[in-house]
Amino acid sequence: MGENNGFSLIGVIDEYLEEQREERDRTKYFYISDMGKCLRMRILKRMGYQPDPLTPRLRRIFAVGEMHHAFIQELLEKKGYLVEKEGEVYWEDFELKGRFDAVIKVEDKYILYDIKSVHSRKFHYLENGEKDSHYIKQLLVYYKLLRSKYQPLEARLLYVSKDDLCIAEYGFSYNKYEMNIYSELDALRHWWKRQELPPRKDDFPNGWECKFCFYKTACKNSIPQEENITEQITKQKGGIIQPDKLNKMTSATKGEKVAKVTSQSSWFQKIA
Ligand code: SF4
Repeated sequence: MGENNGFSLIGVIDEYLEEQREERDRTKYFYISDMGKCLRMRILKRMGYQPDPLTPRLRRIFAVGEMHHAFIQELLEKKGYLVEKEGEVYWEDFELKGRFDAVIKVEDKYILYDIKSVHSRKFHYLENGEKDSHYIKQLLVYYKLLRSKYQPLEARLLYVSKDDLCIAEYGFSYNKYEMNIYSELDALRHWWKRQELPPRKDDFPNGWECKFCFYKTACKNSIPQEENITEQITKQKGGIIQPDKLNKMTSATKGEKVAKVTSQSSWFQKIA
């Protein structure tokens, strides 16, 4: 007794989570769960660039999030509130799809919930009034796609603490965010139609979104900077072209494009 023979339960968990991972085709649609996030990341994803590999720690974090979702959904079902969960919705005009968390019925009203599993520290920021704009947009796109099915419908974000199941819920009005949602989707459609990559974020690579971006390597490597005015855009489905190779390519190289550089924020202003 006492010898562990190199066995580790964490190893078994990591192996299990790796086995559960599904390879998805991310090139047919944009995703509602990416609303409010970097446009360049979303175009890279849909173009078929490879994401950076998930670390075992991140897989465990995602697994905990899924457990929280399942717990809340099951609880709502057992208590008789749940009307629908994990329903798939589409917004064909923008080639956008997603899966909402839960719609419940309370008396004669429906409430749509988008569940966000967060660190307990998050509650401190929430109390200070800082809500996540990308979460709000995601919730309200689901709301827009469900409001004709469930009437009257209210939209709420549900923050659940990973540490102690502490819960905070906030309601949001679609009308206040509608223009912003359409501006973002118009911009996304614009870049997709042109098959060009939007510029990097102004705070690349140290901004919070870049730090956690799964397409950081693709973003960094796929497009070498060319002066301050233009960027060469070359795509290779399912892979990343190394900068030294790109530098040797001529304008006649298959797949190479040139785009004007604008910042993502200035683009939003332009179409707003
Ligand atoms: S690394 Fe930053 S700029 Fe590049 S795709 Fe990701 S979020 Fe966007």
